[in-house]
Amino acid sequence: MQKRNLKGLNLEELRQFVEALGEKPYRAQQIFKWIYGHGSHSFDDMTNLSKEFRGKLAKHADIIQLQLLTSQESSKDNTVKFLFQLHDGLRIESVLMFDGHRTTLCISTQAGCALDCKFCATGKMGLQRHLTPGEIVDQLLLAQSLSKRAISNVVCMGMGEPFHNYDNLMKACSLLSHDVGPNLAKRHIVVSTSGLVPQIIRFADEGHKYRLAISLNATVDEVRSEIMPLNRKWPIAELMKAAKYYTQKADQPVTFEYVLMERVNDFPEDAERLKEVAQGMFCKINLIPYNATEGTFRRPSEARIMQFYERMTSLRAPVTIRWSKGDDIEAGCGQLATKSNRGPADRAL
Ligand code: SAH
Ligand code: SF4
Repeated sequence: MQKRNLKGLNLEELRQFVEALGEKPYRAQQIFKWIYGHGSHSFDDMTNLSKEFRGKLAKHADIIQLQLLTSQESSKDNTVKFLFQLHDGLRIESVLMFDGHRTTLCISTQAGCALDCKFCATGKMGLQRHLTPGEIVDQLLLAQSLSKRAISNVVCMGMGEPFHNYDNLMKACSLLSHDVGPNLAKRHIVVSTSGLVPQIIRFADEGHKYRLAISLNATVDEVRSEIMPLNRKWPIAELMKAAKYYTQKADQPVTFEYVLMERVNDFPEDAERLKEVAQGMFCKINLIPYNATEGTFRRPSEARIMQFYERMTSLRAPVTIRWSKGDDIEAGCGQLATKSNRGPADRAL
């Protein structure tokens, strides 16, 4: 019989599992706490369970862990980039950042990404596969075990489009925020989407308390469709309607991310249009200076970035420039792309 991987199961699923093994339902909560609260991956750790039960668990179950291949620390700001290997040999990255009292982990939700944004290194990989809830949560559990500081925030801005993997993402977020598990505040979990309109509406309708960010990146459809092909399906006007719907339903601001790329979307007219789009919307704006990857896109000069920012300041909504962390280790937004997802021959490192 194939062993059941317990990592990724929620409390109810664990309850069913222990009951099927003939154990009392409350045992599920104990196992849940070991896995998600303590980051345990061995039944031997679970000393409040009888030896006999632990033996039974070892026979019928597994707690599969990501394998840490490498971690690189930035010499500039202590940002750490982790390279993890999944059980099938694929690789993903997560980034740990320190910002004042906040410790934020940027996690991946897919290996690669299907959406093919032209400026993004992950997009160039294509989609390899969705991550399971266990693989999404495990990035936090492993990073936490390696970090001296408690991780307070999670942003789904690593590899992949979170809303393309909606169900697994939502299950992972509920595990991450569970009070018997990592217990992250829901408002400290940010889901960033490139603009999948139906999922934005679903997210709003389901009343989630996680925060929403939308990667806008352009203010005219012609440009946005060029750099983000999904815009052909869900153009800016529709995206904005969905964003507004979300802010009204959730009574929370939406964050618009705007990656500044030289002579693509950094003209004064873009700033003016961005203000128009944001006017009357309950929102924040994050300007992200482009991080270099292979390809033709460039980061604007600092002067151009500042001019764009200055133009935006007349907007009532808060506008922030997000200078990337860990640029010496290519840990910035959109730079995550494992160059080594080549399959079995490449697995031993
Ligand atoms: N797929 C989701 C989340 C992952 S990408 C999304 O697109 O929102 C996270 C952010 O990185 C997005 O705002 C995206 O526009 C931005 N990004 C992608 N490539 C980048 C690059 N090279 N430099 C700076 N930001 C980039
Ligand atoms: Fe995917 Fe986001 Fe990169 Fe676009 S920007 S390719 S949606 S990860």
